[in-house]
Amino acid sequence: MKYCRSQLTEMLRCLREAVEIESPSGSKANIDRMAAFFSTEFRRHKGSVEVLPHPSAGAAVCAEFWGGIGGQKPVLLLGHHDTVWDLGTIRTMPFRVRNGRAYGPGVLDMKSGLVCGLWAIRALQALGVEPRSPVHFFLNPDEEVSSVAFRDTIEAEAKRARAVLVLEPAAAGGALKTERKGVGEFQITVHGRSAHTGTNPDAGVNAVSELARQILRIEKLARPGRGLTLNVGVIHGGTRSNVIPERASATVDVRVSRRGDGELVERKVRSLEPIHPGARLEIRGGVNRPAMERAQAANLFRQARELGRQLGIKLNEASTGGGSDGNFTAALGIPTLDGLGAVGEGAHARHEHILIRQLPRRVALLAALVATI
Ligand SMILES: [Zn+2]
Repeated sequence: MKYCRSQLTEMLRCLREAVEIESPSGSKANIDRMAAFFSTEFRRHKGSVEVLPHPSAGAAVCAEFWGGIGGQKPVLLLGHHDTVWDLGTIRTMPFRVRNGRAYGPGVLDMKSGLVCGLWAIRALQALGVEPRSPVHFFLNPDEEVSSVAFRDTIEAEAKRARAVLVLEPAAAGGALKTERKGVGEFQITVHGRSAHTGTNPDAGVNAVSELARQILRIEKLARPGRGLTLNVGVIHGGTRSNVIPERASATVDVRVSRRGDGELVERKVRSLEPIHPGARLEIRGGVNRPAMERAQAANLFRQARELGRQLGIKLNEASTGGGSDGNFTAALGIPTLDGLGAVGEGAHARHEHILIRQLPRRVALLAALVATI
């Protein structure tokens, strides 16, 4: 802890640089710069680094530390270096420190998490502590847009690992995340038939009204009592009031607490039938991130809580409706603990910030976990 406290200025310097290199998911050049920035930091601290380029998403980074330790499966530190903030946000939302908080685009979600990971490794090196197993550190370039580009690589890394520590921000009060809901999205398009509402109303098939009736069916699939919720967030349809609309579409967000419910809701949505015999339904999408169930986190959380106690940090656990790459690794049955990054508020919001005094404590906790599990 003493070492971690002594490093705070350095950590903030690194965090500032990382935030000021903006890295929105879609901006390949900037994501590549961000990947290069962390690769350099990893190499500087004895990491053997592989940069994995991608034609559209930007590069991922895979680093290995203490690779010489034989016989043990590695611990995987998992993070992402993309953010939800567009290029240029830094001009209206600059990195700044005020009242013990550091603000800026992506500062909490999750550049500070990457800084925590880096300093956990640096702390162990500085103190001459060799962990039980090698440490792999994977940076995903497109987590904020559903982790399409490197999902297979993440899953392959996870399968090799003994445990996955996800550096997403902590839940409120610094709690670690032991459960995450599964996340899905469906696009439902209704194809009807257009017609003149005055001269030929019977010839039309109203796609808007068909969609409205389908939405009521879809909403009935929700089981909020057990964490299955649906939100029809976007609808489009129709052109003019005097035209029977031939097309309408809806986008539906789905959250599930249980993996089985993800499969159930997929099956039910896909098997929707048109109510009007002249309408046709086109259904796309599905559950993208399976639920991260507590079973995969329980042991790791117990260890983290005990290590926290020794460090004077009281740790709670939390479940969240948001997904992360931890959903993928937990679904493979690999022990996964999430929320090990910084403590703060406002991820994806303009007041996004971290609590600076918590940073050394999180690094110490992470270092202790990495060294002992
Ligand atoms: Zn994140």
